[in-house]
Amino acid sequence: MRLILLGPPGAGKGTQSQRLVKKHGIVQLSTGEMLRAAVAAGTPIGQRAKDIMACGELCPDDVVVAIVADRIDQPDAKRGFILDGFPRTVPQAVALDRMLSAKGMKLDGVIELKVDANILYDRIANRVAEAKARGEALRADDNPDILRKRIEAYRVQTAPLVDYYRGQGVLGSVNGMAPIAEVAADIDQVLDPAPAKPAGKKAVSKTVALKRAVATKVVAAKGAGTGRQKSTAARPARASAGAGRGVAARGKTTLRKTKSRRG
Ligand code: ADP
Repeated sequence: MRLILLGPPGAGKGTQSQRLVKKHGIVQLSTGEMLRAAVAAGTPIGQRAKDIMACGELCPDDVVVAIVADRIDQPDAKRGFILDGFPRTVPQAVALDRMLSAKGMKLDGVIELKVDANILYDRIANRVAEAKARGEALRADDNPDILRKRIEAYRVQTAPLVDYYRGQGVLGSVNGMAPIAEVAADIDQVLDPAPAKPAGKKAVSKTVALKRAVATKVVAAKGAGTGRQKSTAARPARASAGAGRGVAARGKTTLRKTKSRRG
């Protein structure tokens, strides 16, 4: 499975990546972590990246693309990977597309974690407090002034990727402000809206089912007109407006299930 997690700093990409890594037996490729490791090791890339990162700007595309190209060729990435923090610009996304198609690979999904900018400051403040409590070194860019620049960099340079991947029909959006477990469940739902399980399956509460149905509508609406799925002639109009590769098409199943559960 090959995934991308998209979202501003503090959106929860790292938290969700760790869980997906365990669940799918894939590796998390965080360009931020790779760059911090390069800075710590004082490699030529690290020397180039150090000041750029410390002031909250993005490192040059060519540097980051080269790191990722090298990393996804490693044996542990063969089963799949989650890209966390990459791509961050449209040229990076184009480079990734080229990279993958040259290897005969494709993306299974791009998950957007939608979060209001104003809660990100609290989240990063928490992350800093927790790191301090554990006696860990703090990140040079985890302070309010720099965070503002990182959020702005996301808005200007990275957010356009939402449209980019929506256009490819691989985007699924989830509410990143919900509790962690709920975000996790929504991601799972977008990635693998499991076929109805036979008897014995735990009932989903009405609230959860409803939220999923709403999220599904959002995903379906967002993918409107970009579908690459199989013939939808016999399906209702809303369903046929789904994103490709089944992201919305599968979500539709949830809608049906929801309805029947409500009786
Ligand atoms: P965040 O929590 O802000 O999302 P990351 O750990 O992903 O942080 O990245 C930290 C910094 O590393 C970024 O602000 C940027 O300077 C650099 N960086 C990470 N990934 C990329 C990338 N794909 N392109 C350019 N710069 C990057």
